[in-house]
Amino acid sequence: MRYSQLFSKTSRDFPKDEVSSNAQLLIKAGYIYKEMAGAYAYLPLGLRVVEKIKQIVREEMNNIGGQEIIMTALQRKELWEKTDRWDDEKVDVWFKSALKNGTEVGFGWSHEEPISEMMKNYINSYKDLPIYVYQFQTKLRNELRAKSGIMRGREFVMKDMYSYSTTEEAHQKFYDATIDAYLKVFERVGLGDLTFLTFASGGAFTQFSHEFQTITEAGEDTVYLHREKKLAINEEVLTEEVMNQLGVKKDELEQVKTAEVGNIFSFGPTKSNQLGLNYVDEDGSSKPVILGSYGIGITRLMGVLVERFADEKGIIWPEAVAPYKVHLIGLNLEDENVKQKAESVYQVLKKMNVEVLFDDRLDASAGEKFADADLIGIPYRVVISKRTAEKAELKVRAESKSKEVSLEELFEAFK
Ligand code: ATP
Ligand code: MG
Repeated sequence: MRYSQLFSKTSRDFPKDEVSSNAQLLIKAGYIYKEMAGAYAYLPLGLRVVEKIKQIVREEMNNIGGQEIIMTALQRKELWEKTDRWDDEKVDVWFKSALKNGTEVGFGWSHEEPISEMMKNYINSYKDLPIYVYQFQTKLRNELRAKSGIMRGREFVMKDMYSYSTTEEAHQKFYDATIDAYLKVFERVGLGDLTFLTFASGGAFTQFSHEFQTITEAGEDTVYLHREKKLAINEEVLTEEVMNQLGVKKDELEQVKTAEVGNIFSFGPTKSNQLGLNYVDEDGSSKPVILGSYGIGITRLMGVLVERFADEKGIIWPEAVAPYKVHLIGLNLEDENVKQKAESVYQVLKKMNVEVLFDDRLDASAGEKFADADLIGIPYRVVISKRTAEKAELKVRAESKSKEVSLEELFEAFK
């Protein structure tokens, strides 16, 4: 991608009402556009990051047997009435509307009810189970406060997965496999050391739900960490009894601010009982399907990454989610020789399938180009200029020193 062609430009400004540092940085660097509080558009650079995160999640969900689908955003009132979750008193984030004929509809804030209803068409006998389905979808939630940038949107991308199992044991096995898959996801995006499996208040059926909480001052949650055991307890369930049960003592725990990047819980047979989702077992008897629900906040995760990986100059993306791997800067491009060299480095890297953002602007100073590269935060910066002559300058965004390398060495480094 040529920077001169990219319509989203960097700027020193951001909307006055934007108080979160993740959104400030992402707006300044040209990743997102703020439509209104809690609603952001993803521009070419931002979309690339979202897609990178989604792909990592997709691979790990496929790995444990997940099948990808997309449900509808419009939802039927009667399904949510059956499970007593239509009332605004019960679910306080509903956006609702009505069809021309007056029929009330809801905008999907979660999908247990419609997916489970749909599964009545595909689940008859024990032979049809288990089924694991997931989607990446824009969820709509009428959040009271949206001051955390893309970490709390009224519109945001979630990966939600649902498991349908015959027995509690079979369900538990998949639930545990999901915990492992989630830990892999957070490891792969660069948050492994900062993210903790957290015991939180239960779903409809079990004592606990499990959250995945990442340490950040920008988070809205408070948890108590046990670093050695690599677990945490959400303050909402921190009692003497729970600590005993988990084999930890209060003075071993460290209070930290965190952001919930994932949340998984078990509904047991409750939802299936309410909706009439049953299967015929081997002995011919009818039984409710066991449901589990597993979320990851894709765009929240992106916000957390920006909160955690930045310095005073801008973002520092972990390689796995960066929009491009190399930020190629051409200086003195009015010089035909230098221009040709920069162009050829760009072409060679592209041929090698290295993702490159090529700053080929003629009307920007060296200072501007360096500042923009630091703000955008691509992991490797390569400079071709009159001064570098037959060589190139290579710098890692996270480090302060650059080094001169020959072009062979440069291409070797990105092989
Ligand atoms: P929170 O407690 O932060 O409001 P939640 O418990 O309501 O979140 P879930 O319904 O479990 O969230 O959704 C699954 C995941 O989606 C969460 O773990 C979080 O990462 C993400 N998420 C939830 N609400 C938002 C939001 N308003 N904006 C961005 N991501 C969100
Ligand atoms: Mg939660």
